Amino acid sequence: MTKCPVCSQVFQKGDYQSLSKHLSLASDKNDPFHTAWLQDYVPMPNYGSPEFINNLKEFFKISDGSLKSWIATTFTKKFYSEKPHPFIEAMQKPKKSIFMGYGVENYFFLKQKIKSLAYVIAKTDKEDIQKLESTIISPNINYNMKDNAAEIAMLFKMYEGLGLGIDSVKNSMPLPPTIYSIKIWNAIAENDHWIETVAAINTMDLFFCPQLKDYGAKLPFFAPNVLDNEWIPDSVKQYLKFVTDPSHEYSMEALDLIEKYAKELNLIEEVQSTFLRSLDAMDRHLQARLTRAKQYDSR
Ligand SMILES: [Zn+2]
Repeated sequence: MTKCPVCSQVFQKGDYQSLSKHLSLASDKNDPFHTAWLQDYVPMPNYGSPEFINNLKEFFKISDGSLKSWIATTFTKKFYSEKPHPFIEAMQKPKKSIFMGYGVENYFFLKQKIKSLAYVIAKTDKEDIQKLESTIISPNINYNMKDNAAEIAMLFKMYEGLGLGIDSVKNSMPLPPTIYSIKIWNAIAENDHWIETVAAINTMDLFFCPQLKDYGAKLPFFAPNVLDNEWIPDSVKQYLKFVTDPSHEYSMEALDLIEKYAKELNLIEEVQSTFLRSLDAMDRHLQARLTRAKQYDSR
């Protein structure tokens, strides 16, 4: 089925005519969510014009037959283009407050990621998928603060380097945009097909993927000279090295599996739509990291 990438309303498979009507109607009514989505992904002066359906089809078209490449390219355009996401921009010349805002809000994303991927394991019998997801989540559940094998332990060590209390973060609340995004990721895991959850969550590791430049990324996750800056605590450098180390990063492997099963299960359109909902959830969550950073700045 074709699904609205904003509100998940479903249409017949391949029915972009109805989807375009739904979107242009929402644009007429100035619905803020649909309008923002349209301006971001299919920018046009007039959504009532006959070209809209063609532009919409063009946006969803998997041109070389590769869903993997469509996802990686769409992700790259959203966050790593010439006009990068403000969070990625901030990571090129980071300040202490950026690492604090990143670290604190990211804790809540990481907890939700573990839960969402556990849903995937429970909902499928595919062993390659279960193996991938358990490889990612097990170290983050059964972690040891002494070894450097889990992102969550590295994150907690980063808090210590930044003067943040681990318990105070664990007992705090994320900012409202992160709460909103976590609700979306949790609802996808609960209600949608497991391959859609893989497409929503595993793809977010693309932030750390070195191959992203092959899909048009204009800049890295953080400027490499960050690691030489003397004022940056070692625990922050170790965290950044950990998350961007190719041996801890499975997004390309996940994309191969997403492509394989989306085709096998005939769920390509569903995967595209759910991935797009997750992209917007991540966009909001990244804004929350910056807002949190500003709060630390003003203290
Ligand atoms: Zn909609």
